[in-house]
Amino acid sequence: MQKIPVGVLGATGMVGQNYIALLNNHPWFEVKYVAASPQSAGKTYTEAVAGRWHLSTPYAPYVGALIVDDANEVDAAKEAAARGDCAFVFSALEMGKDKSRILEEAYAAAGIPVVSNDSAHRWTEDVPMLIPEINAHHADVIISQRKRRGWDRGFIVVKPNCSLQSYMTPVYALMKAGYEIRRMFVTTLQAVSGAGYPGVPSMDMIDNIIPYIGGEEEKSEMEPLKILGRLDEGIIKNATAPLVAAHCNRVPVTDGHTACVSLEFGDKKPSIEEVKAIWTAFRSLPQELGLPFAPIHPIIVREEHDRPQPRKDRDSDKGMAVTVGRIRPCKLFDLRFVGLSHNTVRGAAGGGILNAELLKAKGYL
Ligand code: NAP
Repeated sequence: MQKIPVGVLGATGMVGQNYIALLNNHPWFEVKYVAASPQSAGKTYTEAVAGRWHLSTPYAPYVGALIVDDANEVDAAKEAAARGDCAFVFSALEMGKDKSRILEEAYAAAGIPVVSNDSAHRWTEDVPMLIPEINAHHADVIISQRKRRGWDRGFIVVKPNCSLQSYMTPVYALMKAGYEIRRMFVTTLQAVSGAGYPGVPSMDMIDNIIPYIGGEEEKSEMEPLKILGRLDEGIIKNATAPLVAAHCNRVPVTDGHTACVSLEFGDKKPSIEEVKAIWTAFRSLPQELGLPFAPIHPIIVREEHDRPQPRKDRDSDKGMAVTVGRIRPCKLFDLRFVGLSHNTVRGAAGGGILNAELLKAKGYL
């Protein structure tokens, strides 16, 4: 099968580097185009990331030789598309939400689909915010998105905030099994890589916890409602439950977001054993379709009293699985557990790649 040529916008950043590493030898996609800020433009990728390659796996030598373009210049990507080097882009830009919102629209208008990690379009009502195990059907809003904006080939799809991935799939699995969830109390312990590079200064982070991440609690409380929402007349209408209260903390962990979650069910409440059985058996469309980045077990249940832990569990199933543990009754609500996922893989680049695989399987790419 001939691989689809893809571009990575923000290819030099924390998430962009993960895209470059994870797409190496991908069975369907091949990186042929890279773009970043004007400071990196004109350099080879090797020159642009010199002294700031953060990953233990190297990038492919051919990617190192690619010339980095200025991501603000959509015409450069159009030229790459015309010469067969860029059928769609992964967007991992950090340039201010107003600017990236307009820029992503310009790419889509130029006929280049955008699979984004940016939060700029998460609240646009005809832009799907995908976790493929939960709301793959939201991708079909692309049809009305294109029609409404007069885009023929381009579109924008986003993924949600990285910390949500640590608990939303387990929460959804219980809902799918017929258990209403009325309220949810979440405390996140979020890794420093979630803030990009250089991120939080080391003097603030070592031997410390920072009980504030700008905008994160609002995202954690609102995004689940869009993810669980329904398609209606070409837009996504938010769900009205569960009511979520979130505390988001930055902790001195390199990768892996942890979430301590309490759930209140409706009148019907599952036993602890039922919850474990539902999570262990949970499979969804990405697994049925056999998408290359789909974890075989989307939810891994650990029985040990001290798991999940970021260092031991974040890389489970290519860094794409959610690991849950400490599943026990809650004295305030009904059930408590700890969830963990890899923020720059499942929560960022790996999640974006799974979104693109889903879109290809559904015929949008
Ligand atoms: P980052 O490490 O700061 O990287 C930012 C990227 O954007 C770099 O490639 C940078 O290029 C480029 N850039 C900066 N200013 C630009 C400009 N004016 N014009 C064009 N390109 C510009 O950020 P990150 O952590 O990778 O995050 C990227 C995006 O993913 C953000 O929207 C973030 O919210 C989202 N996200 C991050 C995570 C995570 O775990 N880190 C998880 C989910 C979502 P230069 O290198 O040339 O400056």
